[in-house]
Amino acid sequence: MQLKQSPFLTNLQAQRFHKLIIGAALKDYKTIEDYACVFTHAGADVIDISAFPHSVISAKKGIEQAVIQDSNLIEPLIMISVNIGEDPHFRRIVLNEETCTECLACVPSCPSLAFGSLNAKDFSYNENLCFGCSACLPTCNFDALSFTNWNSFEPQSLNELKELGANAIEIHLNNDLQAFAEFYRSMETEFALESFCIGSGQMNASQLILAATRIIEEVERKHGPDKVFIIQCDGSPMSGAHDTNPEKDSPSIHSAQSILEFIAKNYPERKNIFVQLAGGIDEHSLAKAFARNVQVNGVAIGSYARKKLAELDSEEERIKIAKAMVQPLRESGRQTR
Ligand code: SF4
Ligand code: SF4
Repeated sequence: MQLKQSPFLTNLQAQRFHKLIIGAALKDYKTIEDYACVFTHAGADVIDISAFPHSVISAKKGIEQAVIQDSNLIEPLIMISVNIGEDPHFRRIVLNEETCTECLACVPSCPSLAFGSLNAKDFSYNENLCFGCSACLPTCNFDALSFTNWNSFEPQSLNELKELGANAIEIHLNNDLQAFAEFYRSMETEFALESFCIGSGQMNASQLILAATRIIEEVERKHGPDKVFIIQCDGSPMSGAHDTNPEKDSPSIHSAQSILEFIAKNYPERKNIFVQLAGGIDEHSLAKAFARNVQVNGVAIGSYARKKLAELDSEEERIKIAKAMVQPLRESGRQTR
């Protein structure tokens, strides 16, 4: 099937780019397929998923399903998320069955229903539904829940994922910039769009600038000065805690502000570096950043979107809510300001 591909570059330039984050650790393939379908209807530029072959297959299936339903839709890019070292996006809850009393206290805390439906009478845990948000941890008084982190991703796996349909990549950096450089230099697979996630509550202001500098240097070293890429400024990862207080800024907006000032000062001629908000982001965050004169190029919405959609049964309703999340971003963009 020949699909029309997202005008992601135009939307980045017009400061109205939208990415849906389904979950860097999520292996719930039905959810990946469903959300990819719903957000293709909504007009997302990118669907960001875990770097597993079946995740890519499921996202592709969801996108194609949407286009069968409406042939005017465009195809979002499928972005795979990979990690360098430990990263909160790449962890999952492990249940200690020895200490779990099956008290059910954790059940309502999980936005992904990993412990079953809200009115479940019997306890169960499906680790494939866990995306590592940590909401369940404080609910357990029996020390039965803990995190396991994944190891770094192997760059050799990327070719297979590209062949299956992945056409964008996001690399989550931590403070080990040398490990990032080694990974990036060894990465032979080329993607239409590269994104680099920094922040995640693991970097202070000067570390953010050091990371941004290293990203810009490494991309230039590998691709020359014109390669389009995104620096994603992560605020409160997987919190779903969008700010309802209009006076309160997301940490992501503060990080983006310092990165944008740094780029304007040190790379004033460069038009290929784009900055995006993530972590605690909702449909109003872009307008909020612009109100502070933080000229970001778009947003990534993750846990907030998942929470809103999880409550809905019908696809029609989910598409309506997804559109209500993407459209305000389009209207906040440069064309209408
Ligand atoms: S709160 Fe803890 S002990 Fe209770 S069901 Fe959940 S994991 Fe088990
Ligand atoms: S609440 Fe978050 S961390 Fe806990 S099981 Fe659910 S998705 Fe995983």
